[in-house]
Amino acid sequence: MADLTTAARPSATDAPPAWQPSTETGVRSLTILGATGSIGTSTLSLVDHHPGRFEVEAVTAGSNANELAQIAIKYGANRAVIADETRYPALKDALAGTGIKAMAGQQAMIEAASVPVDCVMAAIVGAAGLPPAFAALQHSSRMGLANKECLVCAGDIFMKEVKRHDVELLPVDSEHSAAFQALSDAPADTIDKITLTASGGPFRSWTADQISKATRDEALKHPNWSMGAKITIDSASMMNKGLELIEAYHLFPVEVDQLDVVVHPQSIIHCLVSYCDGSVLAQLSEPDMRTPIALALSWPTRIAAPTKQLDLAKTGTLTFEAPDEKRFPALRIAKEALRRGGSAPALMNAANEVAVARFLEGGLPFPVIAQTVEQVLEDAERAGLTAEVGTLDDIIAVDTHGRRLAASVLEKRT
Ligand code: NAD
Ligand code: MG
Repeated sequence: MADLTTAARPSATDAPPAWQPSTETGVRSLTILGATGSIGTSTLSLVDHHPGRFEVEAVTAGSNANELAQIAIKYGANRAVIADETRYPALKDALAGTGIKAMAGQQAMIEAASVPVDCVMAAIVGAAGLPPAFAALQHSSRMGLANKECLVCAGDIFMKEVKRHDVELLPVDSEHSAAFQALSDAPADTIDKITLTASGGPFRSWTADQISKATRDEALKHPNWSMGAKITIDSASMMNKGLELIEAYHLFPVEVDQLDVVVHPQSIIHCLVSYCDGSVLAQLSEPDMRTPIALALSWPTRIAAPTKQLDLAKTGTLTFEAPDEKRFPALRIAKEALRRGGSAPALMNAANEVAVARFLEGGLPFPVIAQTVEQVLEDAERAGLTAEVGTLDDIIAVDTHGRRLAASVLEKRT
């Protein structure tokens, strides 16, 4: 079997934790990568909620030029960047006479992310967010990280850059924001385990047979959270929880065996940290991403978020169950990729992105998403793929390779 692993990760106690408290306060200037998305617009709703507190420097989007232009105008951004270059004329026209700089393409995204600001909100979906996020690490004091694929694909080198540039990395994913809070500045050797909660998604109580016939609309109906399409499908397959285990591994000073998942259908408890003395600390809130986003913007203090306050008497019951890796194989596949390390998580992510996009286009049976990911990882091993992943370019090459393998697996099926 080919070895997909890179050099061993430094032990948890060698590395300074990325979540160490800092004396820095007060985010003012803000760049939002992925401003038109679910996290992007929730971030902007916090800007609205605190008039005069934040200045938006740059906003970016994939292809929705009109929405991006409206955001740039409303928030008085200095620049707006659209990734899809064919949408540049539309963006330029919509911003004509405003004084806002319109830009397009990959290099322009990197350029915008490189303008020094107090905080960059990394809210692009998928591996497409890697180059601008890496650029932002070199120039901004803080990053709010929603774009979990950055850590899944490039965790080791991403965290090295975070430390090298002394960036305050604030996790935005609700489970990781919860862990960040429950961990506080606890020494690594006092942490027994970190348990991420999972809603179980729309198919939590479905049989394998029902899941095999699930439609796109059924998969997009998340019971608790309103999110972008890709993460909603990942939640239905539970690949999202797999991606989050990998994310947690890179963020926090724990080993793989200290990470766990429990299904908690109400999504009120977001994460539990178990300590060596038997204590378990958790963070609770209504399932609303404005809570973790507010913390990413305000930490180490807190700012108000326009969310519903939790009322446990009204909630009534909190329940828990073990995840079922038979009906949700993506969770098992992601755990295996995390253990394998090296290029495996980036390959897995690439294959998942391709398969999810194909499922969203329609016609692909839901279970084929996880089957494609597993087949790509097997094909990569059989081909003796031992890609080095020491640089961002290596990761991008692995991502391209994974996408090609996934396209060929899907082509063979049809
Ligand atoms: P979304 O699809 O709603 O928004 C994605 C944003 O990225 C949009 O602005 C889009 O225009 C932009 N984008 C898409 N493709 C691009 C490309 N190729 N190049 C540049 N920009 C591109 O997604 P979302 O739900 O906001 O999720 C964003 C990230 O946050 C994901 O990594 C997701 O896993 C993570 N996250 C989201 C939530 C949530 O509640 N939405 C919760 C936790 C984590
Ligand atoms: Mg999450």
